[in-house]
Amino acid sequence: HQEQQPGIEAEMTPAPVYDNDDPGLGRLQGKVAIITGGDSGIGRAVAVQFAKEGADVAIAYLDENLDAAETAEAMRKYNKEALLIAADVSKESECKLIVEETINRFGKIDIVVNNAAVQYEQKSVEDISADQLEHTFKVNIFAHFHLCKYALPHLKPGSVIINTASITAYRGNPSLIDYSSTKGAIVAFTRSLSQAVADRGIRVNAVAPGPVWTPLIPASFDAEKVAKFGKDTTLKRPAQPIEIAPCYVFLASKESAFITGQVLHPNGGTVVNT
Ligand code: NAD
Repeated sequence: HQEQQPGIEAEMTPAPVYDNDDPGLGRLQGKVAIITGGDSGIGRAVAVQFAKEGADVAIAYLDENLDAAETAEAMRKYNKEALLIAADVSKESECKLIVEETINRFGKIDIVVNNAAVQYEQKSVEDISADQLEHTFKVNIFAHFHLCKYALPHLKPGSVIINTASITAYRGNPSLIDYSSTKGAIVAFTRSLSQAVADRGIRVNAVAPGPVWTPLIPASFDAEKVAKFGKDTTLKRPAQPIEIAPCYVFLASKESAFITGQVLHPNGGTVVNT
């Protein structure tokens, strides 16, 4: 499923790829994960790969979005039945609900993936209304605080939190000033929280993708921007969601046991100041 703007040719916006033929290695066997925005794009690929690795997955999604059922269908290939939770993460009460419903169904939480986000193009700060600014911050960064706040009491030693930043946190983006600001906040949030919960045996890391083909992109870019998308990376192309999801599997598994407070940069080789 992908929304396309008029004038954007289909071949310029290839369908997102969420899975591959690699076998699961059981790296998340017996684990329970929450993924916000797990219905679409990167979140959907993470949900499918987590299921392949043996995890049970709760997917929080916006209720007007019909993609959650498609994600659940993709997870059934790995004999996993997704818990679909319609919730607006911009609201603290709904972040609490996501945690409660996951505990009611699976009895525990081992992995929290903060992934839901919105982005709106703008020419400069004069273009950003107070309402838009508030909404972007509520979805993109406040939700990270609220979900962690309600999940943390349930997280046992060995649990992990994975946040979703962006290359824009490092390079900036003149058309996404509010969005890139929230992503910078996520990097600092990740470092600070990792230090705050280390003595509980909980690790906190983030993923900062470069350009990725997801429904977020053609929905907010004009045809010219879509054509240039990813061409400034070393690999000269954008990623597919399936190329980002393994970072989340790695950070969720015990293979990354000595990594916390860090940001992984799947960005096609773009040089960023970290
Ligand atoms: P996407 O639009 O496919 O996914 C975003 C998800 O967030 C959707 O599932 C949407 O339903 C959900 N969402 C939005 N508002 C919500 C709300 N109020 N409550 C609950 N869910 C809500 O986009 P994507 O590209 O897969 O983005 C996933 C993450 O990756 C985001 O954090 C995004 O900022 C980040 N990212 C994407 C790119 C890229 O190039 N696509 C690059 C860097 C970072």
